[in-house]
Amino acid sequence: MPFRDERSATVEALASGRVGRGMDAAALATGNESTRRRTDTYRPEEAPMTRIVDLSMTVEECDSAPFAKEELYFKLRPIVRWEDKGFVSNMVEMTVHAGTHIDSPHHFFRDKPSVEQLPLDALMGEALVLDLTFKGTANSRITPDDLDRAERALDAKGIQIPPGGILFLRTDWPKGHKTTDPAWWNESPCLTKASAEWLVARKPRVVGFDFAQEEKGVDYQHADEILTSGMRVHRTILPNVTCQIENLVNLDQVPSKVRVIALPAKWRSESAPARVVGFVDE
Ligand SMILES: [Zn+2]
Repeated sequence: MPFRDERSATVEALASGRVGRGMDAAALATGNESTRRRTDTYRPEEAPMTRIVDLSMTVEECDSAPFAKEELYFKLRPIVRWEDKGFVSNMVEMTVHAGTHIDSPHHFFRDKPSVEQLPLDALMGEALVLDLTFKGTANSRITPDDLDRAERALDAKGIQIPPGGILFLRTDWPKGHKTTDPAWWNESPCLTKASAEWLVARKPRVVGFDFAQEEKGVDYQHADEILTSGMRVHRTILPNVTCQIENLVNLDQVPSKVRVIALPAKWRSESAPARVVGFVDE
């Protein structure tokens, strides 16, 4: 079973030897901590340095969701203000699909697991990055031929796509675009239903995207039409994976094969914000 090591690994096991012996589970938890810990004197000279790459977006206040104009995207509501009490405490009203987040199968299939039920071991391990940057331009459609080309590029590096793995699709669309901008949705590269079927045929446990992957068509051209469209890509992928990750960033900063951790907030909902990080040995 190709992912046996990762699937059975705890965070601590991931850290030992593979992420650098000077780090521990706590060190993995925060970038600052790991930066400090990796210089510890008990780390052998020959152990690789590990760079932590944040694959998550910063979510900032935005009063309107591009895909549901009447709704808030991410809005802070202060309970306590600095001016009043010398500290701050906020409520937040948001879509659970803001920024980098994880969609559970429950997003489209009522009886399938929601976010708080997702198995944690599926959410950490080795990810393969399919390089689709040649389709990272406005309004491009990623076809099975494009995915074949990206798979051949991996193959040329000696990397095969194993069943049960984590697959990230990289277009670099986030460069110069934000999910709060309707253009992120309206002009984003997208998959076709056939491409979604191509992905499902590889039997990944997790698929992640750095673009608005849903297929454009007569039922969906603009952000505010997506929720009433057929959402063929979502419907094809979600019943066949543990979960999908949307709105990844910085996939240009990790190699084609990279250890990742992608943990969503433990919310009983169809989706939840996630911090996704990659570990790059240097
Ligand atoms: Zn979503």
